[in-house]
Amino acid sequence: MDFDLPGEDHPYRKAVREWLEAHPEPSGRELAEAGYVAPHWPTPWGLDADPIQQLVFDAELQRSGVSRPMNPIGIGWAGPTILHAGTPEQKDRYLMPLLAGEEVWCQLFSEPQAGSDLANLGTRAVRDGDEYVVNGQKIWTSLAQFSTYGILIARTDPDQPKHQGVSYFICPMDAPGIEIRPIIEMTGVPTFNEVFLTDVRIPAENLVGEENRGWSLAKVTLGNERVSLSSGGALWGMGPTAEDLLDIVRAHGGTRDARLRQRLARLHIESQLLRLIRLRTVTAAIKGEPPGSEASIRKVMADEHGQHIMELGKDLAGTAGLCNNVGPFGGDPGSWAHGFLFSPALTIGGGTGVVQRNIIGERVLGLPHDVDVEQGLSWAEARRGGA
Ligand SMILES: Cc1cc2nc3c(=O)[nH]c(=O)nc-3n(C[C@H](O)[C@H](O)[C@H](O)COP(=O)(O)OP(=O)(O)OC[C@H]3O[C@@H](n4cnc5c(N)ncnc54)[C@H](O)[C@@H]3O)c2cc1C
Repeated sequence: MDFDLPGEDHPYRKAVREWLEAHPEPSGRELAEAGYVAPHWPTPWGLDADPIQQLVFDAELQRSGVSRPMNPIGIGWAGPTILHAGTPEQKDRYLMPLLAGEEVWCQLFSEPQAGSDLANLGTRAVRDGDEYVVNGQKIWTSLAQFSTYGILIARTDPDQPKHQGVSYFICPMDAPGIEIRPIIEMTGVPTFNEVFLTDVRIPAENLVGEENRGWSLAKVTLGNERVSLSSGGALWGMGPTAEDLLDIVRAHGGTRDARLRQRLARLHIESQLLRLIRLRTVTAAIKGEPPGSEASIRKVMADEHGQHIMELGKDLAGTAGLCNNVGPFGGDPGSWAHGFLFSPALTIGGGTGVVQRNIIGERVLGLPHDVDVEQGLSWAEARRGGA
């Protein structure tokens, strides 16, 4: 792979710069219609951009201080799944508002009894004429309270094995029968929610792909989740990076503490490894290849890297770090105080680090399947020695 980015005079770069000069403060809709929100998507939603073009777009947007719309679940997970399996009508209706950030999306996957073992889900969807009637409970649903739509998986045939008989829906979050109860995290912020669904009627046209074939689409969603969760800053692509922390350390004249210096060097090594893995993952994703095992490896590394950044930022605050309103070297907390409290969630959300390691063990190293798959037991049952 050639990591050199096109030079200053390259036509892609010039075209983006000219567009940004003409649109110095673009709206989400303008960015979406220009194809700059997800340039690797096909036209008219993206620009069919190859990996190098995408990196150029990213660099130019960053240079101009232009941010893409904030809709992580919509752009990162719902959109790619609709692109993959949606009808032309679904693509026309949902993709552009989603890219523009005009309609925020959430992900209604996890349930109290179905997290790592997601195929254990119990939410039911029963066909009734031109609608499905949905009953069940979802949990840990990030952004549900702000969302227009949710991607929902529900069981449509309970008689089939657990990885089958599951269907994938677009769920309007204002449908009668949906109750959203925020959960307050230790950060003090209610990012995620419990969502109760009681006789919720979803039009049959909101089914994505075929009935009972939703599990393979959920895997498309989760595969894309692994790519998009792990890019950029320490907190799933947001917040400060290792380089930001190193800049703060340099600005304060460095540190002579041998252990902190070792940890800073380790952070730098991790960030460089992640940068290289990201280039490989992005290349595969943009070529239209399914996200491979590198995505799982990257997620494990990136989530732990995020925790290392936040823990080191806290330790660099010294004893003042015992307070929650102090950043590294006792400075302005910025996103550090929130980030430190949020960072334990990094190795849980989107699949725990332990489960990701299982996937790497099986798919990359060719080790035997998890006991769950071998014996039809849930992990908890297996730990107890059987059902
Ligand atoms: C910040 C955050 C945001 C989230 N947002 C969403 C969202 O928007 N939508 C959504 O649907 N979900 C969301 N989740 C839920 C998330 O996907 C689940 O929490 C995660 O998949 C783990 O499931 P669980 O919480 O049920 O834990 P469990 O699956 O019950 O796991 C409990 C423990 O057992 C371990 N374990 C489980 N299975 C195995 C195994 N086979 N082998 C070894 N160890 C195992 C786990 O590693 C963990 O330590 C979010 C979670 C977080 C933290």
